[in-house]
Amino acid sequence: MSTDPRAAIIRALDECGAQVGDCGHEPGDVDQCDNGCAALLGRYADAILAALDVRTPEFIMAQRDAGWPDMHPEDYCHQCGRRNMSWCAASRDDWLTATSEWASRTGREGICCPECFDQMFRDATGSKPIWMLTRWGVSDETVS
Ligand SMILES: [Zn+2]
Ligand SMILES: [Zn+2]
Repeated sequence: MSTDPRAAIIRALDECGAQVGDCGHEPGDVDQCDNGCAALLGRYADAILAALDVRTPEFIMAQRDAGWPDMHPEDYCHQCGRRNMSWCAASRDDWLTATSEWASRTGREGICCPECFDQMFRDATGSKPIWMLTRWGVSDETVS
């Protein structure tokens, strides 16, 4: 299954029949259209991704190759491209268990959002994780 958000948006737009004018291509057949529908759906997808603040895998890979000039590596999920937050799994074991299949596909563990981790954890273990939000680097004594 592709996790490329841009490809998913283009597929969804294509399946609901988005076309240039009334070019007449069948819904789902944008790849066979010669009337500019693929370029149009690409522009729609880019606008939707920008409005939702989602990054594509290609953007994240280019950022990685360039040394992260425009984003911190943890700002976006490297799997779904959505905004990510600072978080960690409860243990390194949990992290490695959940992400091992992804790592074997991508050659690296990457950085993912809690929702993508949740899905990978369910897939890998058959059980579901639960969130616990806590402070980072602040001891109880310093909290008033
Ligand atoms: Zn078309
Ligand atoms: Zn994600």
